[in-house]
Amino acid sequence: MSFEELGLSAEVLRAVAEAGYAEPTPIQAQAIPQVLQGRDVMGIAQTGTGKTASFTLPMIDVLAAGRPKARMPRSLILEPTRELAAQVAENFEKYGKYHKLSMALLIGGTSMDEQVKKLDRGVDVLIATPGRLLDHFERGRIMMSGIKVLVVDEADRMLDMGFIPDLERICSLLPGSRQTLFFSATMLPEVKRLADKFLTLPVEISV
Ligand code: AMP
Repeated sequence: MSFEELGLSAEVLRAVAEAGYAEPTPIQAQAIPQVLQGRDVMGIAQTGTGKTASFTLPMIDVLAAGRPKARMPRSLILEPTRELAAQVAENFEKYGKYHKLSMALLIGGTSMDEQVKKLDRGVDVLIATPGRLLDHFERGRIMMSGIKVLVVDEADRMLDMGFIPDLERICSLLPGSRQTLFFSATMLPEVKRLADKFLTLPVEISV
């Protein structure tokens, strides 16, 4: 299996080649075509399997294909920690460099004002920890009604860290007609219950 067979754009393939990836990892080979087709995905995968690229690469193409006139957030990636959110943001910049998409990283420990400035300039993608995202939302700084793709990453860690009420609240603020990609290293009953709530007829991928 090669990256060229997965249906990604020339722009994303170029970024992947520059990253030095020779071939897709199993989660990438299975998830990328499904995400491009608009399916919900439940991925059981640990860190280190290449799962970040399995959702960021196709998401970049989904966003680049349907650009609206007014720029508003169309994708939301939720991470349990600042460090993970920052890593995903780095990946997003690397893989998306040939598409002109903009991103805001909304995490604690950095200035709210800087993040607000970025939001006011208009972004396509939000990469956030749940608490900081809700902070911005409650101050009226983010519009969630344009979100078409939601990624919940490391759902089991979200659970361990007590983020389930925040996740449920965020979910209630998003449009019902959206694509959701849900990743967890394990599928304990509590995580499964959450997945059932968030996902519609998901493709299940376990690596
Ligand atoms: P992740 O599981 O998303 O945390 O990714 C783990 C590491 O694998 C990261 O450092 C990526 O840059 C790298 N990686 C992702 N996809 C590939 C690939 N197809 N080939 C080689 N390395 C990759």
